[in-house]
Amino acid sequence: MKLGRIVAIFLLLAPVLGYASEPVWMRDVTVLADDSMEGRAAGSNGSALSRQYIISRYKEIGLLPLHSLDSFTHPFSAENKGKQINGTNIVGKLDGKIERYIVVSAHYDHIGRKGRRIFNGADDNASGVAAMLYLAAQSQAQSRQCHQVFLAPDAEEHGLLGARAFVKAGLLESDTIFVNLNLDMLSQPGGREEVLVSGNLSHPRFNRLIEDIEIASNMPMIATDERRRVGRFPNLSDRRKVSDHAAFAEQGIPFLFLGVGRHNYYHTPRDTVSRIDREFYAKTVDIAWQYLQQLDALCAQH
Ligand SMILES: [Zn+2]
Repeated sequence: MKLGRIVAIFLLLAPVLGYASEPVWMRDVTVLADDSMEGRAAGSNGSALSRQYIISRYKEIGLLPLHSLDSFTHPFSAENKGKQINGTNIVGKLDGKIERYIVVSAHYDHIGRKGRRIFNGADDNASGVAAMLYLAAQSQAQSRQCHQVFLAPDAEEHGLLGARAFVKAGLLESDTIFVNLNLDMLSQPGGREEVLVSGNLSHPRFNRLIEDIEIASNMPMIATDERRRVGRFPNLSDRRKVSDHAAFAEQGIPFLFLGVGRHNYYHTPRDTVSRIDREFYAKTVDIAWQYLQQLDALCAQH
């Protein structure tokens, strides 16, 4: 089925199904984790369909392509365990006043299907992409200090291939990237109402920023490193290559990662929209927005 038709049917049915009253991130996550997207494996038809949808949302929000790309797509080809993977990152930007970039990232690929079982990847990572789209729309509606880039990497599940290809392509000068804010899995508390944070900025203001958001949102921010929960302070290097921020860290670019960590539905066909904890997810989306605003303010002082 063509994307236009799926979206048309969805919009037609939305009021009937009660989606009209849904927050915008729930609508986006519902489309991206639909069976028609077939689990969004890099190179699949479902991946192409999800890409069309994300690009249509970039246009709707008013993002612009990077000068160095002149479209919203960044195709790449990379090797993983002897296998050639062709993927396509999605990139858009909003201009600020200062020549520095905040790169918000959320991978849109997932692990696809095995036979008839579809791995919808609602939490991993349709939830991060939908949150990123919300951040882009919020940012678009107000003025910014630094430029903001919204990057949906492909082939994260193959070993961060898209994010690494993006960083290595030099589409942005790496020394002009103030921070990478990486969102990966925001909608499943897995029994623990907390957000895992990691980052490699040893900046006192950065700790303060996390503490401020923790207090304002009443949500515990738990620093992680390796397999341990290490407590409150996130100025640690994240050596676990759990998500795309590692691609930035490898080039010495500061990052901040927000996610919920592994849970029972992680990488199973049960990671579906119906299992999203909507109340928790609404909080993490707002928290991600607070991070972006605070990082923009910090970027201006830097
Ligand atoms: Zn993920």
